Amino acid sequence: MNQAAQLLTKLCKVCIAPPPDLTVSQWADKFRFLSSESAAESGKWTTLPFQREPLDAVSDSQVRRVVIRAATQMLKTVTIENSIGYFVTQDPGPILILQPRDADVKAFSKERIAAMIRDTPVLRGLFSDPKSRSSNNTIEKKLFPGGMLAITSAGSPGNLARRAIRFLFADEVDKYPPTAGSEGNPISLARKRLATFRHRKKEIMTCSPTLPGSEIDRAYEGSDRREYYVPCPICGHMQSLMLKFYTQVQWDSSLTSREEQAKSARYHCENPDCKAAWDDATRWEAIEKGEWRARAPFNGIAGFWISELYSPWKQLWEIVLDFLTKKDNAQDLQTFVNTSLAENWVEKGEAPEWEILLSRREEYQPGTVPRGGLFLTAGVDVQRDRVECEVVAWGRGRESWSVDYQILEGKTSESEVWKQLEVLRSQTFKTEQGAELPITRMIVDSGDQTQDVYNWVRTQPASQVQAIKGSDKGILPVGQPSPVDINVGGKKIKAGLKIKIINVSFFKSELYANLKSRRPTDEELSQGYTFPPRYCHFPAGKNYGDEHFKQLCAEQLIMRSNRRTGRTKQEWQQTRPRNEALDCRIYARAAAWDIGLDRMQERHFKAMEDQLKAETDKLEEIKEQLKPEPRSPRNSSGESGWLRGRGKNWLRR
Ligand SMILES: [Zn+2]
Repeated sequence: MNQAAQLLTKLCKVCIAPPPDLTVSQWADKFRFLSSESAAESGKWTTLPFQREPLDAVSDSQVRRVVIRAATQMLKTVTIENSIGYFVTQDPGPILILQPRDADVKAFSKERIAAMIRDTPVLRGLFSDPKSRSSNNTIEKKLFPGGMLAITSAGSPGNLARRAIRFLFADEVDKYPPTAGSEGNPISLARKRLATFRHRKKEIMTCSPTLPGSEIDRAYEGSDRREYYVPCPICGHMQSLMLKFYTQVQWDSSLTSREEQAKSARYHCENPDCKAAWDDATRWEAIEKGEWRARAPFNGIAGFWISELYSPWKQLWEIVLDFLTKKDNAQDLQTFVNTSLAENWVEKGEAPEWEILLSRREEYQPGTVPRGGLFLTAGVDVQRDRVECEVVAWGRGRESWSVDYQILEGKTSESEVWKQLEVLRSQTFKTEQGAELPITRMIVDSGDQTQDVYNWVRTQPASQVQAIKGSDKGILPVGQPSPVDINVGGKKIKAGLKIKIINVSFFKSELYANLKSRRPTDEELSQGYTFPPRYCHFPAGKNYGDEHFKQLCAEQLIMRSNRRTGRTKQEWQQTRPRNEALDCRIYARAAAWDIGLDRMQERHFKAMEDQLKAETDKLEEIKEQLKPEPRSPRNSSGESGWLRGRGKNWLRR
């Protein structure tokens, strides 16, 4: 290399500032000291295994927003504190910290920030002495070399609109007022101030969950949705502990005192072949060896979700005792669900409003698959005098589109109605782009008219049609297939009919939560906002009228306590005589689960999308070929291969 080139390289190294060498967790391990005000033990900071990735996401240049949806005392404040320390010393710029109210501003500034500056030597020298009363270090504003720390209440629009910032750390976002004065949502207001630092800006949003569709809920759903998976120390099975409190944490409720019951609690490994009961030491051992796993593709937003079950500071019995103490009061229970389990609180017994769903119907033709729908399932409810069936399209983020609802009249003891169902089963549905989609899986309830259902399902392709029975419980939303065909000697017939048990309670809760998710406004949609994940779309048209939506909202969840065991249990209760629309919808969803929708990753969706695209292209090609001879009959039999290109193993598990 000649001298000029060497010089150029040297210059470039100076001009393009190298990214800071440390990550946030490394910075904290090296420099951070905990203050006695905010930590059980003051002294040198040590990053715990589950804290490392969230902290380091903040210093990762690929990440523009970090979303922390967590139980209290786990991850929220420490991420903001350590990020402040990191950027002040490593990569300074103007920082805005949002707190819900003025009182929170004061508390956070004094107990968290001032204490951290006082006790962390590397920070102390960068801020002026607060006792000097200089305007450079006040509760709401602290200057440091190369930047400024502003701490502001989300309710003060004036403060939000002031000057450009590079870092926005929004703490406890669900507690913000929905609008800051007349100026709009406080977070969008604050975000506008990030605009000047286009590529170097960074955002952190934190909160414990509150209600479905809240600010933190939408932020997390829009992220890559990471959960912390831990290996069972007994069998090695990796599992997330999220949403597991009601199923995997078990205790002896026959014991007399709450304390005794709580002390008997163990977490049980979710692997059905293991089910090992973990004591606290086992649980902590598992957590030590855990890893974050994303459930959605990375799009610049890293989302972390974690509950108190991962806490190294709490024993399981403390969490269970907290639950037992709070469970009988709805408000207390909500606090527990939000701040300990880090789960959304779903109002008990509150079905979605059918009028709202009716008013949200969209302009697409029933019988067609709107853009976004990638595969179809069907749910069938069987009555004595008719069969009802809904066909649903599924896409990324479990977004769904109701495609068709059919009511086939006829006695189910006779063959006519079953012939009609077979026509529907073998039908294909046109996508918006022109390709044809078959029903990948159809689920038929065998709870009523059981033998008629069995008889028909036996004649259908086993990979496509599945008989089921609904149940209110079950470890798995869709159980393993079990044989119903038994010969005279009581032996199972090989290759005989098998049915699966569907946990309908699980799917009803999920559907009702999804039906309540917020529809973006027309204005938001025109600005390019997309529908939230799991949004349910309905067409305006035949069979999607008042009656359909009344049936869909026909059940409510009530709390019922078992006198013998003293445990309260949630139970679904029908509020209207008919609810077939709800049942069909639940079965269609169970079919999507059964196919593997919940485990599908971007590459699966992409593959399906590409295939649809290829089919559309093929269609165009054929149309083109047919053009010069307008009378040429449409070949409807031999050409169907490409229409149904997906063999039965089109998605391998
Ligand atoms: Zn295990």
